[in-house]
Amino acid sequence: MYDIETFYAGLVEHGLILPTGIRGGYGRGAVFEKILRGFNELVSRTAAPDGAEEMTFPPIVARTLIEKVGYMNSFPQLAGSVHSFFGNEAQARDITSRTQAGERWEDLLDITEVMLTPAACYPVYPVFSGLLPNGGRLVTVLNWVYRHEPSDEPTRLQSFRMREYIRVGRSEDVVAWRDAWLLRSLELLRGLGLAAQSDVASDPFFGRAGKMMAANQVDQRLKFEILVPVISEEKPTAICSFNWHQDHFSSKFGIRNADESLASTACLGFGLERVTLALIKAHGYDPQRWPEAVRAQLSL
Ligand code: ATP
Ligand code: ZN
Repeated sequence: MYDIETFYAGLVEHGLILPTGIRGGYGRGAVFEKILRGFNELVSRTAAPDGAEEMTFPPIVARTLIEKVGYMNSFPQLAGSVHSFFGNEAQARDITSRTQAGERWEDLLDITEVMLTPAACYPVYPVFSGLLPNGGRLVTVLNWVYRHEPSDEPTRLQSFRMREYIRVGRSEDVVAWRDAWLLRSLELLRGLGLAAQSDVASDPFFGRAGKMMAANQVDQRLKFEILVPVISEEKPTAICSFNWHQDHFSSKFGIRNADESLASTACLGFGLERVTLALIKAHGYDPQRWPEAVRAQLSL
């Protein structure tokens, strides 16, 4: 019933995903995209009364932003860095001959000012710098993100989309917002026939010091996830995450409440490919045969 290879083969056979040879980098067929878009729009309709500001960023961030938020201390193993060629004619000829001979050539590249966006919310925090309006702000973004975790498992991608909401303001408002969304998301996902459960969680911080950071994150209940069985019953997949960053971002970017106190931030992110795969696992490879109530909500 839960078998990674059979599930992957079924997704390919039904044209839902298109193998590219990249682990965790497959293409998406039209039906897969229709489900994903339907879910994203359902999220928008559900959140509409909150009046979030919509922002759009490219899937790259400033290298200085990655450095400033400490991403390379916490998650160096997941980072994606953009490099390019800055050399002369002779070095360009060297690249040509080495690539054609199947030799290594990356030492002829140098780093650019950008890295791949690791979480859709990252470009938003610098925008909040300075004094916030009374009541804080609420922003929504949708973006492609990169994580270096190549895998044959269809729910673990290197490049995927996150639909996020980001709340900034006083701690009590931010935490109340996070708690309300946890219930709202569970209801939303269960309403689509998914066996969704929430749990405290931690991020995959690197190394031995990282283990302590993860334990601290659990102790302080800073991260929650909504889990659904997709490729395993015992190890359900996180399809949505809720993070309370306390003043991690606001101290770095000088984000202050209207009364000058240091602000607090939280974000929630739906992993759109994972939600799509969870729906396919729950209802089958052909959305035309899904329960009518689910199809109606997703405009399928
Ligand atoms: P932070 O802001 O602390 O980095 P975030 O909410 O922006 O956190 P995560 O909690 O790491 O980011 O991930 C958000 C969601 O993205 C997860 O709940 C999951 O659904 C999805 N996701 C994470 N990693 C992968 C992956 N490798 N492949 C597919 N989806 C993923
Ligand atoms: Zn986030």
